[in-house]
Amino acid sequence: MQLKVYNTLTRKKEVFQPIKAGQVGMYSCGPTVYKPAHIGNLRAYVFMDELRRILEYNGYKVKSVMNITDVGHLVSDGDDGEDKMSKSAVATGKTPLQIAEEITARFMQDVDALNIKRPTLCPKATDNIAEMIAVVKALLDKGYAYQTEDGIYFSVEKFAGYGKLSGVKLEDQKHGARVEVNSFKRHPIDFALWKKAAPNHLQQWDSPWGMGFPGWHIECTAMSRKYLGETFDIHTGGVDHIPIHHENEIAQAECWLGHKAVNYWMHCEFMLIDGGKMSKSLGNDYTVADVAARGYTPMELRYLYLNVQYRQKLNFTWAAMEAAKSAYSKLCNLLLAHKNSNVQTDREVLDGYRQKFEEAINDDLNVPLAMGVLWTMLKLPKSNDVYKLALEFDKVFALDFDKVKEVESPALVIPEDIKAIAEQRLQARKEKNWAESDRLRDELAQKGYAVKDTPNGYELVLKQ
Ligand SMILES: [Zn+2]
Repeated sequence: MQLKVYNTLTRKKEVFQPIKAGQVGMYSCGPTVYKPAHIGNLRAYVFMDELRRILEYNGYKVKSVMNITDVGHLVSDGDDGEDKMSKSAVATGKTPLQIAEEITARFMQDVDALNIKRPTLCPKATDNIAEMIAVVKALLDKGYAYQTEDGIYFSVEKFAGYGKLSGVKLEDQKHGARVEVNSFKRHPIDFALWKKAAPNHLQQWDSPWGMGFPGWHIECTAMSRKYLGETFDIHTGGVDHIPIHHENEIAQAECWLGHKAVNYWMHCEFMLIDGGKMSKSLGNDYTVADVAARGYTPMELRYLYLNVQYRQKLNFTWAAMEAAKSAYSKLCNLLLAHKNSNVQTDREVLDGYRQKFEEAINDDLNVPLAMGVLWTMLKLPKSNDVYKLALEFDKVFALDFDKVKEVESPALVIPEDIKAIAEQRLQARKEKNWAESDRLRDELAQKGYAVKDTPNGYELVLKQ
């Protein structure tokens, strides 16, 4: 079956054709590790993971590379403003390296909790400075870049293809009031490849142009080429990367290499919170830990992510999170019922569901539709064959269907002191001492147990 993906570059769905048969090289813009990722950031990595899993489901061997930006790129995507890593370092009294290590570890915890497969390689920017300097030097030598008092800039007017990803036009930008003017630049949207550093700048490296640090865009160009070769299959990111970061990556890479560098550009839409923007100032930039603190598991959060196709905006609300929790537990109970059945299902029936599932995931990663196929399949008479096919689907969903027995409530072990109270209460009831019986019921409730009266006596359950 053919896999179709939406290519931002051509603005249409295309049949995916790898460069090397059976293999895929993909690069994803990774986190800037100066503060914990919020659930909006993480949506792009769940998308990266779904893409990889669907490629693997289709039999491709995937090499996935995601950078760790541990060099302060600037607060905005532009070239001015404060350095994010340094700003965080000053605020916390830690070194940029300490912050980067702590935040990277936390990011990887979130990645693992959400069942996002760790990329094959996660290179750090600080380990690849020499490679970045080499690209900057090549762009200078070829005449695509120029040196100013404060750094090395890429000249967008030298690249005829500038704007092809986002549709941005250089003329509009030149006269646009939105673009800040940096007097060193020849064109307002020329961008920094290398910035010269002030003596007190926290992160700086030696270069042919003196001490300084790389621009953000050059990092991805240098590292993707180093680990995936001159032209590779897929580059992913969030839609916010399209107009500046990825446009600049294309310009640098194509001018440096002299040919196309990436075949498919794929972008994940934004996550909204309560229909609006997520921001620190609104206090709604929730992390996985915040979601957990409200009683939701990472799998319930993943279920929520999977129910909106990656090119649609996802509106996060706590009510939607609650609905995801409820749906996920229903799903687990249904799966468990199928698992525990010995009945068989016709092969043809199952093949029909498998085909619908594959059509959905191969139609530009329509995972919500594939989830709908699963729900419909689970309505079949209970059968272990259905469960086994659901496990195949879970190679894409990654919702822990193989661990579904864990939701089976284990036999309740009642401590002796609780049993004793329940026995006293039974005795009080036999003596029709209702006040004492009620008092003992309350005592059990305080200790977390509910007591149900039965024809033969009573049953103790955990209080809801
Ligand atoms: Zn990038």
